[in-house]
Amino acid sequence: MALSSGAALKGLGVGLNSSVGQVWKVKPHAALPARAKTANGAEVEAQSLKASISAVARDLDQLGEKAGGTSAEIFEALKFLLEDDELFEVASAHMDDGWSAAAAYGMAVDEFGELLGGDPTFVERVADLQDLSKRVQAHLAGIELSLNLPESGNLVLVGEDFSPADTAQFTPAVIGVVTTKGGPTSHTSIICRSRGIPAVVSCGDAAQLETGDSVLVDPVGDRVVVGGDASLATQSITFVAINDEPIIPVRSNIGTKADAEAAAKTGADGVGLFRTELLYLSEKTQPSVEQQTAAYSEILAAAPSGPIVVRTIDAGSDKPVPFLDMGHEENPSLGVRGYRLIVEHRAFIEDQLKSLEAARQATGREVWVMAPMIATVQEAADFCNLARSIGSFKVGIMIETPSIAVLANDLAGVVDFVSIGTNDLSQYLFAADRMNPALGTLLTPWQPGLIRTLARIADAGNATGISVGVCGESASDPTFAVVLAGLGITSVSASPSQVDVVKTALSSVDLAKAKEIANSVLAATSPEAAKAAALDGLASA
Ligand code: PEP
Ligand code: MG
Repeated sequence: MALSSGAALKGLGVGLNSSVGQVWKVKPHAALPARAKTANGAEVEAQSLKASISAVARDLDQLGEKAGGTSAEIFEALKFLLEDDELFEVASAHMDDGWSAAAAYGMAVDEFGELLGGDPTFVERVADLQDLSKRVQAHLAGIELSLNLPESGNLVLVGEDFSPADTAQFTPAVIGVVTTKGGPTSHTSIICRSRGIPAVVSCGDAAQLETGDSVLVDPVGDRVVVGGDASLATQSITFVAINDEPIIPVRSNIGTKADAEAAAKTGADGVGLFRTELLYLSEKTQPSVEQQTAAYSEILAAAPSGPIVVRTIDAGSDKPVPFLDMGHEENPSLGVRGYRLIVEHRAFIEDQLKSLEAARQATGREVWVMAPMIATVQEAADFCNLARSIGSFKVGIMIETPSIAVLANDLAGVVDFVSIGTNDLSQYLFAADRMNPALGTLLTPWQPGLIRTLARIADAGNATGISVGVCGESASDPTFAVVLAGLGITSVSASPSQVDVVKTALSSVDLAKAKEIANSVLAATSPEAAKAAALDGLASA
C-alpha cells in the first residue's frame, strides 16, 4: 500500500541536519543459481573458484582503500575469512564429488557456519562469511552485487541495513539514508554520522516506501516524512561556541595509525579510547613485544596531544582475534571476552602492558591503560596491580557491565579513572544484543534506564574523586554529550569525525546550563521525552 503524503514514519535519527530527496530502494540482489553438479571436472572448477576468490579479495582491497581508517581494517579481516585455507579444502572435497565451484563454496560455508556457530571466534562472523560466500557465488555466476548508485542526484537510500561493503559504495548523490533495521551503534549509523549524512534507522515502516517517493529525512524529529519539505524539519540545534574551551575535555577514539592521524587533525584533547584489538583482527600469530612496541609507538607518536587512554585487548564476541583461540561458547557476548582472557591468555595481556610501557618511554607520551569488560571490584584491583607493576601509567577500567556500574563507589582507592562504554553497557543493561538490528530502539542512549545509570556512576565518581569518562558511541552525539557533562561526566571521547562538533556543543553552554538540561532529561520517563527535554533546554540556552 502506497503511503500518503504527509505520513510520518518513526525511527531513530542520526545527525543534526535534515535532507529532502527521492527514495532509492536497495533491492534484493538477483537470486543465485541453484546448487548443481557439473561435468567440468574438479580441477576446472577449483581454478574458477580460486579466480573468483581472488576477484572478491581485490574488491575488498579496493573498498578498504576507499573507506580508509578503521573500515580498512574491517575489510582486511573479511579478506582473512575469505581466503581461509580450510574452507577451500572443504569446498575442494565437494568439487571432487562433482559439485560446481559455486555449489561447493556455498556448501562449505554452510558447514563452517554450523560447525562454528557456537565458537566465539567465528559466531559473529558467520553472517560476514555468508555475505562473502554470496559474493563469490555471484562472481562465478556473473551476477552484479554492487549498488550501482549514480554519482549525482538527491537520493535517500532505503534498505534493511547497510554493510561496510555497501557504505563504501555510497556516492555524493546519497543525501539521506533510511534503514528498516539497525540501531544507533550499527555500522550504518556510525558511517552516516561521520560523513554528515542525515539518517533515520530502525524505521520499520520505511519498507512501504517506493523508489521515486519524495521524502524528508528528519533525524532530529526521529522520523521520515513522506512528501515533506525542508520547512517541516524539526528545528535542529545550531551550536555556537560561547567559550574558548569545552566544559569538559573532548578526546578521540582511535584504532589504527590512520585514525590517530585523523584525530590529530581535530581539536581532540588526546585519545579517550585506543581499541588495540583492531590491530589484530586478522593476525594468525601472536605479535611479539618488539612488534607490539613498534606498532604502539607509531600510533602514540601520531596521536593528538594530551593523554592517551589505551584499552588492553578486548577480544571475543563481536571482535574475534584469530591468534587468541577461545574455544567453543554458546553465548559469546556473555562469555570469555575482554579482561576475562586473563585466565587463558595472561602472557598476552602482560606483553601488551610491557609493550605499552616501552612505547611510552620511546615517545614520551602520557599513557593511561584500562581493561574492558570488568564485572567485579576484585577484577579491577587485579588489573590495576598488574598494570602498575609493569609501567608508569594511570590505571583504570571500562564500565560496561551493570555489576560494576552498581559498585562504582567501591572503586575508590582501586582505580585512577573509569571510562563508560555505553555500547556494551546498553547491551547488558537492556539484555539487548548490540549486533541485533531489530533491537535498535532499546539501544538508543536516550533510554531513561541508561541515563539514570550514567548519573549514578557520575555521582560515584564525584564522591570518590575518580574521573569518569564516556567513550561509547553516545559521546559522539553532540546533544547527548552536553547531557553527559551536565550529569557530571568529566570527559568524553568521540570518533575523529565527531570531535569538533562535540567540542563546539560543549563550548556552547556553561556547566550550570548543562546541569539544568541534564536534570530535566533525568526526569523524563521515555527516550522521546528525554531527547525532547535536551533539545528544549538547548533551544533556550
Ligand atoms: C563500548 O562498549 O561502548 C565501547 C566503547 O567499547 P566497544 O564498542 O569497542 O565494545
Ligand atoms: Mg565495549
